[in-house]
Amino acid sequence: MGHSIKKTPKLYALLTGKCPHCRRGEIFTGSIYGFNVQRTNYKCAHCGQRFEIEPGYFYAAMYVSYAMNMVEMISMGFATYYLSNGRLDFDSLWLYVGVIFLGSLFLSPLNYRYSRIILLHLLSPKIKYNANFDKP
Ligand SMILES: [Zn+2]
Repeated sequence: MGHSIKKTPKLYALLTGKCPHCRRGEIFTGSIYGFNVQRTNYKCAHCGQRFEIEPGYFYAAMYVSYAMNMVEMISMGFATYYLSNGRLDFDSLWLYVGVIFLGSLFLSPLNYRYSRIILLHLLSPKIKYNANFDKP
């Protein structure tokens, strides 16, 4: 019995954008709201797992992104309703449009990142976690 290396929890890897195969390497370059536009790495620098496993693979992430955006817009709509004490008259239309538009703009880097993370971690049967790569 040798000493075992501490394994990376799936939830941690998912939230921090780590590679689904080794849970060590970064899926993205840069930080989510950094000055540089974030990009998806071609492959994992730690284990060599390709992220876009076939051409056009990330189109599937668009559907995840749509779903996230839908939930966010509905939430922002409800939040605006409550924070404006239930205003629903015609004049407050632009308030809703403005909040939802700016909110969606602000959340788009988050949607970009998490739609791809969800696709790679939860919706890609071809990519499996391999504990043998989950070490420094
Ligand atoms: Zn990896």
